[in-house]
Amino acid sequence: MTIQFDRRFVLMGLAGAAMPLPVWAQDLEARVATLAAQYQPKVVAWRRDIHQNPELSNREVRTGKLIAKDLKRMGLSVRTGLAGNGVVGVLKGGKPGPAIALRADMDALPVEDKTGEPFASKAMGEYEGKAVPVTHACGHDAHVAMLLGAAEVLSQMKADIAGDIVFIFQPAEEGPPKGEEGGADVMIRDGALDNPKVKSIFGIHVWPGKPGELLYRPEGFMAQTDRLEIQLHGVQTHGSRPWDGVDITALAADITQTINQITSRRLNITKEPTVVTISIMEGGLRYNIIPETLRLAGTMRTFSKARRDEAIDKVTKVVEQLAASYGATAKVEFTMNAPLTYNDPQLSKDIFPVLVKAAGEGKVSDKATLITGGEDFAEYQKVVPGVFCFLGIAKPGEDPEKIPPNHSPYFNIYEPAMEVGVRAHALAALFMLTREASV
Ligand SMILES: [Zn+2]
Ligand SMILES: [Zn+2]
Repeated sequence: MTIQFDRRFVLMGLAGAAMPLPVWAQDLEARVATLAAQYQPKVVAWRRDIHQNPELSNREVRTGKLIAKDLKRMGLSVRTGLAGNGVVGVLKGGKPGPAIALRADMDALPVEDKTGEPFASKAMGEYEGKAVPVTHACGHDAHVAMLLGAAEVLSQMKADIAGDIVFIFQPAEEGPPKGEEGGADVMIRDGALDNPKVKSIFGIHVWPGKPGELLYRPEGFMAQTDRLEIQLHGVQTHGSRPWDGVDITALAADITQTINQITSRRLNITKEPTVVTISIMEGGLRYNIIPETLRLAGTMRTFSKARRDEAIDKVTKVVEQLAASYGATAKVEFTMNAPLTYNDPQLSKDIFPVLVKAAGEGKVSDKATLITGGEDFAEYQKVVPGVFCFLGIAKPGEDPEKIPPNHSPYFNIYEPAMEVGVRAHALAALFMLTREASV
């Protein structure tokens, strides 16, 4: 670490106040780097163990136990049973100060592991009544491993830490199964941000970017997501005599195409992107009967309240009018899953040089494009300022645009990149403690 960095850091964190360097900052970067390198083999071992034992949303029993056991061994005070299998570990620094939080998610997906790795998952589970293969196709195994690694690093620096670091391990980020509750909002309800009351939060998601590079943007980053349900009701008839009833399947096709036209032709796409996807069409029992009812379901992604309201209004009206023109009725329902992932503008700016220290010069960008994927990390950001960023996990030399994305059965991560994630967590935590002590 250079003197120059220290000065910038202090100026940034303390808004120009002439105060001495915080004790931990004096050898901060070097100590975190040495410890992160030391724990890297352990981080890889954790990732592989969790990868081989993946658990679906709200079923993360083994993962939760593993996390709690290791956090206790590190000397953290541990709370379990938040939002089901959620775990919160609190590292009390040797000196008084504020509290901040770091977060990882724990759940896997109903996806078959086709990575061909020796530690590939062979696990099976049950998802909404069906037997399914299970794997960490979104990289939450790496998230848990990196946050445990950061806990190891920071617990070695405990004496010099002024304040409390709260490690949040959250279940069901991918969304709880139908009929269950879970995820970030339940973690918050169960007190994840209380005792101690945290002042800010930081989180990382792995994704197909260049190895070890960090990417984010201030303000709106990842989309707010809605679940869309459409129930169509018509008049059942023989498949040979559609004119005797209502051709509800033709209506369903018409609705799907028209919704695609709304997002391409009737919303100002130069202002912000909007996606509405119909991914389920369900109905009909026999090849020669046009059914009375049909269900369409899908997802909507928007980036502002105004656009969400506008899109809901347009989709609802169009679906109802189309249904009426066929002689059918339609019930349209939008339910918000995750709010907008909103990176606090000031914290985004302040934390940039700290992330550069974690990833290296030229390896951090705060100019990400909008991401139409959603994240329930957004729930924490509704309560406290936070920053969420992506960590690139493509292999060196691979084109990140061409590697299998998150949720693909071939999704895999370049494990050395996790060391950057551990450093980013640890340095972000130390920085936020200093920053929150002075704001
Ligand atoms: Zn995911
Ligand atoms: Zn994810």
